[in-house]
Amino acid sequence: MEVSASNEAMAARQDKFTMSKTIFERIIAREIPANIIYEDAHIVAFMDVKPMAPTHVLIIPRKPIARLEDVTPEDHAVLGHLLMKAPDIAAQLGLTENGYRLVINNGQDAGQEVPHLHVHLLAGRKLAWPPG
Ligand code: AMP
Repeated sequence: MEVSASNEAMAARQDKFTMSKTIFERIIAREIPANIIYEDAHIVAFMDVKPMAPTHVLIIPRKPIARLEDVTPEDHAVLGHLLMKAPDIAAQLGLTENGYRLVINNGQDAGQEVPHLHVHLLAGRKLAWPPG
């Protein structure tokens, strides 16, 4: 009885853990498929499933930081690394000459849907400014 109760409690905790994972954490963990085009110890880049431009990549830190307000001093290097890798990822996709846009939707009014900090890399057409 006690064993079963404790198993149930453990299952509930595991469920809660699974439920609390964002879709991006599940992509990092290879629990759901994604077209990953670059990864290293700190970041992962993959194609956006609903592209808003001919090329639409998401670059994310492996660490599940929900938004910029949750960044701590220890994340300094990872975020610097992420930005510095963007041109390499762009070059890998042949985007250097024509350029690209990097966007962070941070919070509700910006339209952030996934609470895992991510940089959109958009390219392949003339992008309007200001954005909508
Ligand atoms: P945001 O609105 O800034 O939070 O952007 C979230 C982005 O994640 C959107 O552009 C979605 O199309 C993209 N997205 C959601 N689920 C997936 C997925 N499974 N694979 C790739 N991109 C995704």
